[in-house]
Amino acid sequence: MAMRIVVLAGGIGGARFLLGVRAWARGHDVAVTAVINVGDDVTLHGLRICPDLDSVMYTLGGGADSERGWGRAGETWTIKEELAAYGAEPSWFGLGDRDVATHLVRTRMLDAGYPLSAVTEALCARWQPGVRLLPASDDRVETHVVVPSSDGAGGEAAIHFQEWWVRHRGALAAKRFVFVGAESAKPAAGVLDALADADVILVAPSNPVVSIAPILAVPGIREAVVAGRAPVVGVSPIIGGAPVRGMADRCLAALDVECSAAGVGALYGSRAGGGLLDGWLVDTSDAAAIVPGVVVRPVPLWMKDEMATEAMVREALTLAGVADD
Ligand code: GDP
Ligand code: CA
Repeated sequence: MAMRIVVLAGGIGGARFLLGVRAWARGHDVAVTAVINVGDDVTLHGLRICPDLDSVMYTLGGGADSERGWGRAGETWTIKEELAAYGAEPSWFGLGDRDVATHLVRTRMLDAGYPLSAVTEALCARWQPGVRLLPASDDRVETHVVVPSSDGAGGEAAIHFQEWWVRHRGALAAKRFVFVGAESAKPAAGVLDALADADVILVAPSNPVVSIAPILAVPGIREAVVAGRAPVVGVSPIIGGAPVRGMADRCLAALDVECSAAGVGALYGSRAGGGLLDGWLVDTSDAAAIVPGVVVRPVPLWMKDEMATEAMVREALTLAGVADD
């Protein structure tokens, strides 16, 4: 029977990692399911936008702009310019013309009553990602960032994660992150079955605070991972004390977690201690990292191309005890 791999993933880091998982899977009898963060999802100009699902779908489907790191290759920006000419806010979000078509199809299907998981499957019929993509939840789970209020009176305000990340470039000091709607959200159709049937669960080198944490905040998902029979191996998004790209350092600072491979490993915690991990891959430059109760293995973690990433995946699966080649 085919080996079943489940990957927990955010956007770009998750997408690049999944390229490596898919590459490894091609030479083996393997079915891959990715459970993707929906905490970044937002409605702008009446369009439902799912940045992490789209990053993964476009990347695996060969339609992503790999230089920019998000959105579509060959993108044009006429709609954004026209909206700006109307003074239509918000103007800070990058809404490309090609991308808008995805959001139009998605919004229309959601409005017709389809759950996000079904919409994602329909969109993937075009992109053929080669990996089953599941949103963590069909319900609204939205990451908000608590920041000092702008009146300077010492109060707090909560803004949508996208506003903090894209508009303010993470420059406002985050006090904490809140996953709005998480308590009453349910795992999307297929998520709990995939986790229960998994032979191994991989945690992609995604942002631990705003990509992986909101997935685990959906009641039932963390429990299924922690209590399941599948070994869990994570991959550090932090190399040499800094995120490879993005602002994970600012997110970790809000949680008072050291921005290091060991810091993130400890944040996830050992399964023996009620946490997530059996194994933790760190970069060779972080070979001294120790995470109590977790088997730490140093291997090159730069996802510079698909082959390098495939090698990382092989190490993760070997550490999990499900691959020996
Ligand atoms: P986002 O949702 O688009 O922000 O993407 P993710 O949360 O999935 O991934 C962001 C994380 O990927 C960042 O914290 C980066 O440090 C990490 N990352 C990006 N490229 C690499 C890489 O080549 N190697 C490793 N280990 N991590 C990476
Ligand atoms: Ca994201």
